[in-house]
Amino acid sequence: MAYENYECRQCERTFRAHPDANAADSGYCSPRCETVGSGWS
Ligand SMILES: [Zn+2]
Repeated sequence: MAYENYECRQCERTFRAHPDANAADSGYCSPRCETVGSGWS
């Protein structure tokens, strides 16, 4: 299992995720950040 570091597009926090994970694909560290970052309320 090779995890990589990504920078969250919303909170700019570095997080680790598997390249195949949704978090890596979307660029958000958490569902909360994805919600905020994508403009959903
Ligand atoms: Zn975040």
